[in-house]
Amino acid sequence: CGVFGIFGHPEAAALTALGLHALQHRGQEAAGIISYDGRQFHVERHIGHVGDNFTAPEVIARLHGDKAIGHNRYSTTGAPVLRNVQPMFAEFAGGGFAVAHNGNITNARTLQRDLQNRGSIFQSTSDTETIIHLIATSQKAPLIDRLIDALTQVEGAYSLVALSEKKMIGCRDPLGVRPLVLGDLDGAHVLASETCALDIIGARFVREIEPGEMIVITDHSIDSLRPFKRERPRFCIFEHVYFARPDSVIAGASIYESRKKIGMELAREAPAEADLIVPVPDSGNPAAIGFAKESGIPFELGIIRNHYVGRTFIEPSDSIRHMGVKLKHNANSAILKGKRVVLVDDSIVRGTTSLKIVEMVRDAGAAEVHMRIASPPTTNPCFYGVDTPEKAKLLASRMSIEEMADFIRVDSLAFLTIDGLYRAVGEEVRNAAQPQYCDACFTGEYPTRLTDRESVGTVR
Ligand code: 5GP
Ligand code: SF4
Ligand code: MG
Repeated sequence: CGVFGIFGHPEAAALTALGLHALQHRGQEAAGIISYDGRQFHVERHIGHVGDNFTAPEVIARLHGDKAIGHNRYSTTGAPVLRNVQPMFAEFAGGGFAVAHNGNITNARTLQRDLQNRGSIFQSTSDTETIIHLIATSQKAPLIDRLIDALTQVEGAYSLVALSEKKMIGCRDPLGVRPLVLGDLDGAHVLASETCALDIIGARFVREIEPGEMIVITDHSIDSLRPFKRERPRFCIFEHVYFARPDSVIAGASIYESRKKIGMELAREAPAEADLIVPVPDSGNPAAIGFAKESGIPFELGIIRNHYVGRTFIEPSDSIRHMGVKLKHNANSAILKGKRVVLVDDSIVRGTTSLKIVEMVRDAGAAEVHMRIASPPTTNPCFYGVDTPEKAKLLASRMSIEEMADFIRVDSLAFLTIDGLYRAVGEEVRNAAQPQYCDACFTGEYPTRLTDRESVGTVR
């Protein structure tokens, strides 16, 4: 998901819509904005893209006030229905409170059962509502203390932006799995998942919110709290591979440059004799540029993407996902005919994309098709806010690399190693005892407890 917030700007709602538009890649199922005008909160939540729902002047005009937060939803828990769309809003004894959450809480169901046993009534199936109920039932007094009390009970990943009558709050979980940055626009404080959302509104990047840090913004102050037990950060390495936008900067590094380095590392680890390097657009583009640069083989756009179709992976049903892949890409036969082609993509999840793309490239007359993947095999589901399917549906959890190569019908298939990935993002080596990143979808080493899974024995 994508989160955004701005505090103290006359165009708060319009700027939030723009910020969410720049973060559309983080979630395309639904979007919402909640603003506060000093007297009341205003709420607009819609299924669909930001551009389809938040461009009408009357929608923005309804979101009065100089403070607003917003959210792009990408469902990892909960069905795609309006009552699960964020930001969520609650009226507490001390006033209104809105919260937008990126991540996934791994003990949400367990906490929810406890809360229900104590009388809480849940309106949604979204794990974010759990935070609201934990705040509501907290015995602490000021709102910030109640929020801290709530978050202390939560396991998993969260980068959140919240808005009360007096404050905007930004917070990252102690591992800092998901990103969150602080910006400034003419003196108004801005919070956003990625720097690309600051760029779109012309805001200045101030700094990242640190793992385990809570920023509390009021009309007169901005305070940094460290309310949680310190842990070693475990940022999601898959943000570098795929999730973040290439024009964003994370921990001082351009995501575009990281991806090019990933492609260069891949070319060194798994070279191929070929005539062309062809990216699977758009997610494979930067890595393919790096691969071409390192190998000296020409880069060509051998597959053309239709930009008017959303990300296939994000469509919730399998049948739609299948259709989506066909709608999205077409082979550029003039370039591919008779050529030995290296296809570069960021990852293989179910294998749907690769299977279709390879067939398409063969039908277009390619002499050989080699596939190079800019990450290690995805063998495990993510429980921290990236919607990978259950383990049984992950191609790499069912098949060896040779079996996968046969299945997608390539002449050769290779993945980047986990150490190669760490090198590409600037680490000398992966510290096996204490990995510097979360890399659980590639290694199965989850950095937190998976309480819900342990307690109900189900894997999603
Ligand atoms: P597959 O078709 O193998 O299931 O999915 C692989 C494709 O989906 C790749 O082209 C990759 O760019 C994209 N992808 C990989 N992981 C994710 C993810 O977690 N979310 C979304 N939306 N797309 C993904
Ligand atoms: Fe990122 Fe993978 Fe960890 Fe999920 S499991 S947070 S996608 S590295
Ligand atoms: Mg892709």
